[in-house]
Amino acid sequence: MKQVREGLYIGNISDANSVFQGMHPHVTHLLSLLSSQILYQQNPKPGDPYSIVTLRPGAHLQQMNHQTGGKQTTGLPSTPESVPVKSDAGSRSGHEFVRMTVPLKDMESENLLDHLEACMDFIEKGRKNGAVLVHCLAGISRSASVILAYLMRTERLSVEDALTSLRGSSDSACPNEGFMEQLQMFEEMGYKVDHENSIYKKFHVSNLGEAYGKGEKIESSRFASDPGATNASLAENFGSQINLSEEKKVATLYRCKKCRRLVASESNIVAHNLGLGEPSFKTKRRGVGRFQDDEYGEPKCSSIFVEPMQWMTTVIEGHVEGKLLCATCEARLGNFNWAGLQCSCGAWVNPAFQLHKSRMDLTWT
Ligand SMILES: [Zn+2]
Ligand SMILES: [Zn+2]
Repeated sequence: MKQVREGLYIGNISDANSVFQGMHPHVTHLLSLLSSQILYQQNPKPGDPYSIVTLRPGAHLQQMNHQTGGKQTTGLPSTPESVPVKSDAGSRSGHEFVRMTVPLKDMESENLLDHLEACMDFIEKGRKNGAVLVHCLAGISRSASVILAYLMRTERLSVEDALTSLRGSSDSACPNEGFMEQLQMFEEMGYKVDHENSIYKKFHVSNLGEAYGKGEKIESSRFASDPGATNASLAENFGSQINLSEEKKVATLYRCKKCRRLVASESNIVAHNLGLGEPSFKTKRRGVGRFQDDEYGEPKCSSIFVEPMQWMTTVIEGHVEGKLLCATCEARLGNFNWAGLQCSCGAWVNPAFQLHKSRMDLTWT
């Protein structure tokens, strides 16, 4: 294992093994980033992700040296380690270490961002109490990615600078491209995983689209809460915005034109890059007559695209495409299509949950 900073090490699975064997008594914390399949082989008893257990050296986990071959399980695992492994061998030393397991595959499409906060907290705790080893299978991609996020945040480094710095300790550090993109987002969000940030929203909706494309059933719990459900939830959901509005004086709310039900706020919007306007319709021979602006005017968006929300029952039913109807009066507010829709500005949005501005009233908090 290689030292990255005081009390922070990067390593592979053999390094983790040596911690298990008591060869590094100064390591008090072990962060294991492994596929759910390997974690399951180590301990087939189900538990929660991020479960933290205290172990003693000498407590060999089953199959610790297992090589990943062939099949990988899919989806976020439900079977990380949760039960302390008892051992007589190491208990004499009195030395203990704490292990947190995070189910993560080294694949570009894996969601790294959602694990970062828990990992960084654990690293911080480990360094305060002693030393932490962050390891994956090979010590190249997953462990490097998590350590990069930690260095970026604590030392205010760009992802490139953090990588250069990490390679000074471990020249094999090389996150996969998907993880690098997510670390870039992490940087752009100000070194935090901010679920209200439009960068995160885009990432989240695109993840949902990918999962839908793979045939997963998308539970409505993964959709944003319904801003129009109750006044209580309104206050809760828009709490941050209402605070924000005290400074900025405005936060846009979108209501059904017919019944005035709240259907979205500006925080639900998934931004898209403005398209080329009319030319993009001509070349694609689509949407003739839908372009609403002057012939030479700037392209404009006659709709907003939002994240899927829990009032969208037609989406929850699971179809690829359909209408978006007001949950109160059933007026048609727009359309959705998991395979994408084109905005009036010419841009393609994929997946698309489109609300027409003409069907809504705008109000400001
Ligand atoms: Zn547009
Ligand atoms: Zn309505």
